[in-house]
Amino acid sequence: MYPFVYRRADAVPDAIRAAAGGNLPPTSAPAQFIAGGTQLLDLMKLGSWTPQTLVDINGLAPSLSAIEAGPKGLRLGALVRMSQLETHPTVIRDYPVIAQTMALAASQQLRNMATLAGNILQRTRCQYFREADWPACNKRAPGSGCAAIEGLNRKHAVLGVNDNCIASYPGDFAQALVALGAEIDTAGEAGARTIPFEQLHTGPEDPARETVLLPGELITAIRVPAGPWTRRSTYLKVRDRQSYAFGLATAAVALDLRDGVVQEARIGLGGVAYKPWRAHAAEAALRGKKLDESTAADAARAAFAGAKTHGENAFKVELGQRTLVRALLQAGRMEV
Ligand code: SF4
Repeated sequence: MYPFVYRRADAVPDAIRAAAGGNLPPTSAPAQFIAGGTQLLDLMKLGSWTPQTLVDINGLAPSLSAIEAGPKGLRLGALVRMSQLETHPTVIRDYPVIAQTMALAASQQLRNMATLAGNILQRTRCQYFREADWPACNKRAPGSGCAAIEGLNRKHAVLGVNDNCIASYPGDFAQALVALGAEIDTAGEAGARTIPFEQLHTGPEDPARETVLLPGELITAIRVPAGPWTRRSTYLKVRDRQSYAFGLATAAVALDLRDGVVQEARIGLGGVAYKPWRAHAAEAALRGKKLDESTAADAARAAFAGAKTHGENAFKVELGQRTLVRALLQAGRMEV
């Protein structure tokens, strides 16, 4: 580990002041917020992420740790720990897809430490990104190339990629949020703003950027709107082993079904895409159709119509489609 400056913030304005400045990609900013630290410290030890200052925001927990559930939806404080959300009775009953994305992520110890905002901002598990000595990685060293395109890419993305970067987004929670049309509240130098979750993560045009956040812009809350689809919702995660592994293909699904006919479908895909991926084409393919294996398969084909594979990861197209079909049929069978 290299030397760095450690500061504590006791209020949101203190935290913003300590980390703000400039218009750098948020991941390149010299100061980074730390709360659970379950990924940031890991990457700092590897030398693949090297902020000069850490701003500890755990002191903000009293104002940023509430889980509020009401008729309009959920409001989740940015510093809620994953294990708190996983066991919240209203979330389990009314937003099962969210509770499941928590329960299927990482280990219990990590879920006790990791915060919701940190979880959303997870960085890729691409081995060329994590290995600081590897020369070609546009995400870690802009302009250096992408070693994964001709290299080991079994776990890489097939949706939303280009030749700059084919990394896959590794989280789970984000798939539920993108499916449910969540929004993110932030506070920064320029004041507060709300960002639709689907617009939070950026594409591979600039792999080092990752989100639209600015240096010092702090996520304060996540808001999930209520809807007739949230109770009939589920998360399916397919991975190399049954626990403590990242998803190869995942699907977060929420359905409003009446007499077996899809009124509304909300679908987020993970493990297969560069960023949390809302499958709009699959949703449109299902609307007004009776949900069965055939319509689910049509929707899954629509979801992967634009897939681009690179050798080892070609299997993800079929795996992703099968995962989505299973998740849809599973949601269709739920008693709500
Ligand atoms: Fe780097 Fe992205 Fe290529 Fe991985 S896939 S080596 S993160 S540029």
